[in-house]
Amino acid sequence: MLHKLPKLPYEYDSLEPYFDKETMLLHHTKHHQTYIDKLNAALDKYPHLQERELDEMLKVLSSVPEDIRNAVRNHGGGHINHSFFWKLLKKDTSAKGKEIQKALHSKFGSYEEFEKVFSDAAAGVFGSGWAWVVLDNGKLEIMTTPNQDNPISQGKIPIIGIDVWEHSYYLKHKNKRTDYIKDFLEILNWEQAEVNYRKAKGGK
Ligand code: MN
Repeated sequence: MLHKLPKLPYEYDSLEPYFDKETMLLHHTKHHQTYIDKLNAALDKYPHLQERELDEMLKVLSSVPEDIRNAVRNHGGGHINHSFFWKLLKKDTSAKGKEIQKALHSKFGSYEEFEKVFSDAAAGVFGSGWAWVVLDNGKLEIMTTPNQDNPISQGKIPIIGIDVWEHSYYLKHKNKRTDYIKDFLEILNWEQAEVNYRKAKGGK
């Protein structure tokens, strides 16, 4: 079975004026699709791995045959990271009253402090990568990964993640990654973050 591009849960222009239609269209139909195509090409000679859950493979990369390990890490990571990211975007959702908000509040002291630490981490990624809020042994942490690495390869469960590859913001925000991070926080889907948080805790 081949991996397929998931449909976005909204229209390409739904996140305007924060994320523009052209970037969303290219990011989804070209960048994400390319990760999927390259993942499928890598798995082509290992039909039994086409049936395996991708996150199970990324959790234990050493279980993936060596000749395709980097391809699964990069393109498989690209596929699950983007699938995760699209669901985390929605206009007009609020963290109010949610468990994730209470947990962030008790970890960072205030929502504003969380935003600052998260934004600084995302702005500080050198080159291409991601910044994350993860659950690490039951504790909330902020971390970054290079390229398309996913925290599950380090035994951590992602709750919130921001793509800081230039392809995700350059058309609109140009070199101003911090403006893009600010816009991301405006359209962060707290309902989905709450789902991710509850699932991460339940999975422990
Ligand atoms: Mn991307």
